[in-house]
Amino acid sequence: KDTINKIAAGEVIEGPAAVVKELVENAIDADANSVTVEIKDGGTSLIRVTDNGKGIGSDDIKTAFLPHATSKIKTADDLTLVSSLGFRGEALASIAAVSEVEVLTKTADEISGIRYVINGGKEEANEPIGTPEGTTFVVRNLFYNTPARKKFLKTPATEGRYVGEVMEHMAVSHPEIAFKFILNGQVKLQTMGNGSLKDVLFYIYGKETTANIIPVNNPDADGELVNGLSVRGYIGKPSLTRGNKEYENYFINGRFIKNKVITRAIEDAYKSFLMQHRFPFTCLLISVDNSLVDVNVHPAKLEVRFSDTESIYRLIFHEVDNALRKKDL
Ligand code: ADP
Ligand code: MG
Repeated sequence: KDTINKIAAGEVIEGPAAVVKELVENAIDADANSVTVEIKDGGTSLIRVTDNGKGIGSDDIKTAFLPHATSKIKTADDLTLVSSLGFRGEALASIAAVSEVEVLTKTADEISGIRYVINGGKEEANEPIGTPEGTTFVVRNLFYNTPARKKFLKTPATEGRYVGEVMEHMAVSHPEIAFKFILNGQVKLQTMGNGSLKDVLFYIYGKETTANIIPVNNPDADGELVNGLSVRGYIGKPSLTRGNKEYENYFINGRFIKNKVITRAIEDAYKSFLMQHRFPFTCLLISVDNSLVDVNVHPAKLEVRFSDTESIYRLIFHEVDNALRKKDL
């Protein structure tokens, strides 16, 4: 059983960036509006994620670490309606199987908080403690008990960069949450959580880039879903094109993903406007009714599957095209 857990863990948890992604998604699902991530040595020796969300109750802390324990899905039907970022209940079990985890957490209802320690899947402590409302996860010595996996880790600098990318994705897809990322004691990213996507883009990409973006719909408010779809955000003016797809970012229901259909719709829209193939800057927040999208394709959840690729293509093409034609460029 131990081995199976460790193998399964490797599928979800490839390295520090995956740990951070899962823990931050949990914080978002817990309705936090402030999330701080601190790592040392690229996250291999230490990852600390602190949120001000609803916390984990003393009755739920043990089960949270059991494989397939999720509080977010109650019935099989819910699987098609899932709106939370997590739903598999695999992350905490997987992380705890391959590292040393300490949790400090407190809910609004309980007088005392809890300190829970689980190392290599084995519970070491479960005791009351005074701690503010919300949750802090500390993950130490990732892959200490799976040396084969540890060998696949890149240098701390590279792993740290991957974590930084995850933090950027989290920040732009959730402008309403204040994110802070501290790498080896240095603040690398800090957003205000004031709901302004442009402020987040300014912080991450700088003045030059934000001076050359145009809005798609209302970038700061979810529009009504039309046929189960909506899109908002910013795209680069034609002058803001790049040598590769690296700046074509988009998010489905708050998840950073890669998708051929969406990429093609973006590039086709620029091509029809410019009569030239370009790789633009985009940051599009796409909302899709959960009945039309399957995020349950891969544990790492970088891919999604749409039931109707044609309508998503048309929406993205149309809205990008619209935005390009609206402004005097
Ligand atoms: P999932 O997110 O798929 O439900 P996880 O293994 O990531 O599964 O988390 C297990 C459970 O632990 C969650 O369903 C949630 O109830 C609880 N949990 C984890 N992290 C937090 C957090 N930061 N705040 C509140 N509850 C949390
Ligand atoms: Mg989760």
